[in-house]
Amino acid sequence: MDDLWQNILAHLKTTLSSASFNIWFAKTKQLDVQKGGGGIHLLISCPSSFVQDTIEKRFLGQLQKIGQELTSNQVTFSFQVRADRPPINNNLFRPLHLETPPPHPSSHPQLNPAYTFQNFVVGPSNQVAVAAAQSIANSPGSIYNPFFLFGDVGLGKTHLIQAIAHQLIANNPRTKILYTTSEEFTNDLIRGLRNQKMEFYKNKYRKIDVLLIDDIQFIAGKTFVQEEFFHTFNSLYMAGKQVIVTADSPPDEISGMPQRIISRFKGGLTIDIQPLDYETRRGILEYKIGELQLVLDSEIIEWLNNYPFKNAREIEGILLKLKTLSSLQHQQITLTTLNQMLGKNHLTTPSFTPKEVIKTTASFWGVKMKDLLGKGRQSKIATARQVAMYLCRQELNLPYTQIGRIFGGKDHSTVIHSVEKINQLFKTDNQIRQAIISIKSNLLK
Ligand code: ADP
Ligand code: MG
Repeated sequence: MDDLWQNILAHLKTTLSSASFNIWFAKTKQLDVQKGGGGIHLLISCPSSFVQDTIEKRFLGQLQKIGQELTSNQVTFSFQVRADRPPINNNLFRPLHLETPPPHPSSHPQLNPAYTFQNFVVGPSNQVAVAAAQSIANSPGSIYNPFFLFGDVGLGKTHLIQAIAHQLIANNPRTKILYTTSEEFTNDLIRGLRNQKMEFYKNKYRKIDVLLIDDIQFIAGKTFVQEEFFHTFNSLYMAGKQVIVTADSPPDEISGMPQRIISRFKGGLTIDIQPLDYETRRGILEYKIGELQLVLDSEIIEWLNNYPFKNAREIEGILLKLKTLSSLQHQQITLTTLNQMLGKNHLTTPSFTPKEVIKTTASFWGVKMKDLLGKGRQSKIATARQVAMYLCRQELNLPYTQIGRIFGGKDHSTVIHSVEKINQLFKTDNQIRQAIISIKSNLLK
């Protein structure tokens, strides 16, 4: 009874995606509980009025129901916005649970103060990258050196490595970090050469604890820059200093990058951020809607949830347009508005069907579709079947019962078990992870 709210949340959590749950409930708190009049009344604090509105509009019924089940009493709620709430944009919603205290955005001018771990939504497509980034932020130079992060445009590479920088500074304000882009690195070298100040720039890049270079692919093919990077890298590496780079592709697929640099990169940890899956996409969407304090009809939210956004940047772009429309023109956002904005063809929801998932998964493992949908327990077939179920859930968000029907009449607990199992393996088994990545990319072709 002490913290009935936590109890209720523990139950609610099982029905929401973790991204949603964290966004709406992670920062709520029980302030008071009163009994009487045949019921229980809870007073709950929320981090913002937007969170309060959302909880009242979308979750109240569910909360009351869970409360009733837990206590056999009628439970009512009132919400209030916490007085000490932080300004918008600043850790308002915390998608992440960190063991260390959240850093204050540091005063490093090269860093975007909003690019912190707290503001980064974690989901299946980036959780491995986030875990790696956090461990580096907490013990630089020791375990994963260099750290090579790659992925398509707009998926959060810059955000994530800057989050490492913010966390490093928060952990130890004296850490000398330098975040830069390949272009800036190149420009510095040119300036150094032109003004005969090479020593100055060498020191700038070598007398530091952590070097972060964004979009390293742009040094490829520039002999002099590559040369200088190679020496900078070696000097930092030998001194046990952390090097972090991002790129648009894995080390050995950057055309024009010399082998000796590639092999340095491969000597550390290489991790990718994958194309957005349904859950991550939805988490980012909810988070950004909250951040912008956009008020949208449930119909619009539903539509946006199903729109196949390719990356977070695209999500931000569209929401900003909606924000402008609604605030400048006081225009109600309707499906027609969205349609006009994006063109009609975008109204189709998922970009592939369950049948395509099954076909692509079967062909990846070289098994027959008929076997995949059957009952055979041979391990290759069973794995393919479980992965296909997992993809139907993750990517198409089909209900478990429907997946059961598609897969030849399996009951929904079998489906849940398979999905959970692959979810676990995805985090721990590199082969499965790679298989899923390939299948997904085949599906998106
Ligand atoms: P990249 O460097 O991979 O091209 P960025 O880091 O610039 O991508 O991300 C593009 C935009 O999307 C940024 O504004 C970033 O804050 C946002 N973004 C990307 N991924 C996420 C995420 N998982 N959660 C919250 N915001 C994200
Ligand atoms: Mg970037």
